[in-house]
Amino acid sequence: MSVRVRFAPSPTGKLHVGNVRTALMNALFVGNAGGTFILRIDDTDVERSTQAFEEGIRSDLTWLGMSWQETFNQSTRFDLYEKAANKLRAEGLLYACYETGEELDRQRKLQRVQGKPPVYNRAGLALTDDEKSAFEAEGRSPHWRFKLSGGSVTWQDAIRGEQSIDTSSISDPVLIRGDGSFLYTLPSVVDDIDAGITHIIRGEDHVTNSGAQIEIFKALSAHMPTFAHSPLLVGKDGGKLSKRFASLSMEELRGEGIEPLAICSLLAKIGTSDPIEIAPDFKTLVEGFSFGKIARAPARFDEDELALLNARLLNHMPFGDVEARLLDMGVQGGAEFWELVRANISKLSDARQWNDIIYGEITRDESSDLDQDDLDFCKLAATSLPSDITEQTWSEWTTQLKAQTGRKGKTLFLPLRKALTGQGRGPEMNRLLVMMGYERAHMRLKGG
Ligand code: GLU
Repeated sequence: MSVRVRFAPSPTGKLHVGNVRTALMNALFVGNAGGTFILRIDDTDVERSTQAFEEGIRSDLTWLGMSWQETFNQSTRFDLYEKAANKLRAEGLLYACYETGEELDRQRKLQRVQGKPPVYNRAGLALTDDEKSAFEAEGRSPHWRFKLSGGSVTWQDAIRGEQSIDTSSISDPVLIRGDGSFLYTLPSVVDDIDAGITHIIRGEDHVTNSGAQIEIFKALSAHMPTFAHSPLLVGKDGGKLSKRFASLSMEELRGEGIEPLAICSLLAKIGTSDPIEIAPDFKTLVEGFSFGKIARAPARFDEDELALLNARLLNHMPFGDVEARLLDMGVQGGAEFWELVRANISKLSDARQWNDIIYGEITRDESSDLDQDDLDFCKLAATSLPSDITEQTWSEWTTQLKAQTGRKGKTLFLPLRKALTGQGRGPEMNRLLVMMGYERAHMRLKGG
């Protein structure tokens, strides 16, 4: 049987690091095993779902290097969900309940006081037709709950190993709200059956859901996919992922100049037994994927690590891979420029600053402040800078300045670098000087 997986985001927000990791696991697994990746848009909540979020999800996934062979929206399939609900009703597995939210709250409070678990008491199951009619005459419309077996559901999770959920410890899940709308639980199972999904790969926040959903699978079909629940992301110190990161969107990361391959390399490897490093390409991540490598412990997400990986990726990136984007940013330097500066940037947008330093104007930061002594030294250096600058100029010129002034090492090089670039550090000066040209260099040394 060929593998079929699905990534099923709700278009009620932007893709963030947590759901990208889930998407990635699906894409890597199916890429490795060979099969079909399905993008399912979980837009049953028609009020909160938007076309813009959906388009954002599709373009973010594409930007990250993921593609799908099939896609569909749940909002086009309500008739199928109705049909499944009717089947469950006919089998006595979906029953009407009339409690209001407040009544349920009160019940749970009472159970807590009595030291009992807050599990729904199944009052709905015991209602007679007359009682139901009386509620409806009061203007109440029913919500519908799935009747769990009360036994334990076990499965072999591809990541967590053997799992068992005691269904007597959870409430019969509501599948249909009082207003007739479907919650996520049933449509997801109906679609997973219909699409012939072989592996459900998602976050471990769905483990309890799986207990109920497996019973719904059994009630509706002979088909049972393999489940794989991945540990959730936590912050770098092991604490909860901060609010900022929990909602950190791809759009934001892209705006900050983070490369898609840096994001994929990090999210594919955190929480696994593999080292965290930049993958040469997406295909390498696919080839290296295995459920067996995923640890049971939460995966730590560290923004600094992402920045570091991003820098490492850029430091070796060929010009052809960035040329178009550099042009878009208004960077005029070509391949030679890129090869000079790429080791000194941590995001692509930093190239802009070096472009300005070399071809435009500099903004001096505090670290480039020079004292009077150094300023005088630079003025002196300006007078001996040859007008025909070559790659040898820097070395010949500074050797001569050393002999002339007695300055050496840092005291010789640093004031010159600061005067010329406005920065305390940066690319090799010999090539920088050539690109910057005599006029610009001479003027800056004089203090202009
Ligand atoms: N729309 C659901 C979610 O985003 C899908 C969960 C699942 O993969 O089954 O949580």
